[in-house]
Amino acid sequence: MTDISYWGAIGMNDQERQLQQCFSDVGAEHGFSRVMANWERFKEFKATWKRCSGSAELRITDYMMDSGPELINDLAKGIFGRMGRGGAKDIYSERLRQHFLSPEFIQRNQPLYLKRSRNLAYQHQGHVHDLQALQNDLLDMGLISKVPEAYLTWTKGDNRQRVGYCSVIMRVVAVSRVLDRQETPSYVPSYVLYHELLHLEDGLRFGSYHDREFRERERVHPYHKEAERWLRKIVADPQFR
Ligand SMILES: [Zn+2]
Repeated sequence: MTDISYWGAIGMNDQERQLQQCFSDVGAEHGFSRVMANWERFKEFKATWKRCSGSAELRITDYMMDSGPELINDLAKGIFGRMGRGGAKDIYSERLRQHFLSPEFIQRNQPLYLKRSRNLAYQHQGHVHDLQALQNDLLDMGLISKVPEAYLTWTKGDNRQRVGYCSVIMRVVAVSRVLDRQETPSYVPSYVLYHELLHLEDGLRFGSYHDREFRERERVHPYHKEAERWLRKIVADPQFR
């Protein structure tokens, strides 16, 4: 394995060497004789790769940097499995899934994710509506269950095409500032928040996030219809500024 010693020789730190080692080993099992893997400061949790016959170049989310060789190995297996012909859809082992749900993972990575996010107000208390209070109402109504460490915030700007956003893995939910107004009834941000919290509750999954079952749960919100009507108005109406 001359490649490994070569890459190990150019002043890598331990975390870089560990990543390189795991990916070289797993890559070799998948027929790649030359693998180059680097940590990357992506905002989202993701990996990218380029491949050319026997060689592969990968950039791996640095949210995994402190996860240790076993889990990095699991990730490598998942990614090489995905890269193969007819790629595997689900790339996360059960052990990885447990890791993502662990307090250590969130405590290390959620602040990093927030720092890398643009357009967040970092406040659940808006000018008019409070996302925390809206979440408590949803909990009281029994519509959602408590997601530990969920971070709720308004966006800085008035996004109108995308009025709600969530990162399931980082447990961050953002609701567009365009819904934080006197004339907007609280059921509108409540409904958008509810939608995103349903995603957090579901956790990581592959395939459609908005399948029929999801849409059915969405309709359980008492103001589902009214909120949908408001949202259509906001997206369509340029006067609504
Ligand atoms: Zn959604």
